Amino acid sequence: MDQIPFGALSPQLEADADALRAAFERVLQSGWFLSGPEVAAFEQEFSAWLGLPWAVSCANGTDAIILTLSALNLPPESRVVLPAFTATPCYHAVLAAGCIPVFAEVDESYYTIDPESLRRQAEATEARAVLAVHLYGQSCDLAPIEAVCREQGLFLIEDCAQAHGTTYQGRAAGTVGDLAAFSFYPTKNLGALGDAGALAGRSEEWRDRARLVRQYGENPRYVSVMPGMNSRMDELQAAFLRVRLARLEALNAERRLLAARYKAGLADTPLVLPAERPGCNHAFHLFVVRVPGARGKREALAEFLKERGIGTAVHYPVPGHRQPMFGLGRADVDGEFSLEITEHLADEVLSLPLWPGLGEAAVDRICAAVREFYGM
Ligand SMILES: *Cc1c(COP(=O)(O)O)cnc(C)c1O
Repeated sequence: MDQIPFGALSPQLEADADALRAAFERVLQSGWFLSGPEVAAFEQEFSAWLGLPWAVSCANGTDAIILTLSALNLPPESRVVLPAFTATPCYHAVLAAGCIPVFAEVDESYYTIDPESLRRQAEATEARAVLAVHLYGQSCDLAPIEAVCREQGLFLIEDCAQAHGTTYQGRAAGTVGDLAAFSFYPTKNLGALGDAGALAGRSEEWRDRARLVRQYGENPRYVSVMPGMNSRMDELQAAFLRVRLARLEALNAERRLLAARYKAGLADTPLVLPAERPGCNHAFHLFVVRVPGARGKREALAEFLKERGIGTAVHYPVPGHRQPMFGLGRADVDGEFSLEITEHLADEVLSLPLWPGLGEAAVDRICAAVREFYGM
């Protein structure tokens, strides 16, 4: 029986293989490996694709978040609200930027930050910014989040690491907030052949500060006017990303077709299927179901699928406020609140394979295996 791995990149790279080799040759011939014409061209092409005046490339998505916070020039130890149910780099980035993460609850249906919880947490901690994570390719509910930001004087940073091509009521994810952070980790919807990231926005002041921090706070070169870091994107990755950007829409369309196939094939099973926010375009970075029932049911399904050669994953098993690094069960700096939905999700979510090139026959086989698990 053929294995269906949880993820595989080679199939989606095949169609671009010649163009990627040509890009490699071009960079090799140029003798420029950092901060050269490929990076400048990618920044221009990516910001144009997004519909924003600028993008600043950097080494990875975690740095992109750090650079958004640095660009805003927040006072040390500023509170930044983010969903507890998210990827670990989100809070590491907040900490690395000298800020303190404050965890908020997520929405029961869409698993993105709950605007009401955001408001409570921001008020209780006098937070300065929110990191709104578009989880799994699903947009956050940006309109009420924007309203809370106005009311509380918060900067809105969109974490678009899983949302290249996601839209919210006709607006591209990343163009609604003050700043947006993207990752181009190889498995993301837009992936490099290694690490890469970018931030984007409208303010020239924030752009200039992000550029400074990106390279040792230097302006001009070898003169440091502020503390900085090294977070450059390679010319090679920029050249590869220019090739990959041209295929992004087609790959996202394929992801959505596969997701629709899953939804039809699993419709009458006990699984809770991913809801799509009305009027918004879900980029299906991941296809995540909830396995309801007693603790351990998810693990039983994962094991059942594994025995049939089907790989799965859990995004994410430990919510931010439960991470051992924050101390036992500490939810945030101050305030009592419940993160029941987040904790339920962490126990129930299971990611099924969804990648360009997976094919509908594989999706059908996975759906059949799930049905068999439930004796259907
Ligand atoms: C991948 C990811 C990041 C971090 O990106 P890296 O390029 O791996 O540093 C940040 N936020 C979210 C939501 C992610 O999925």
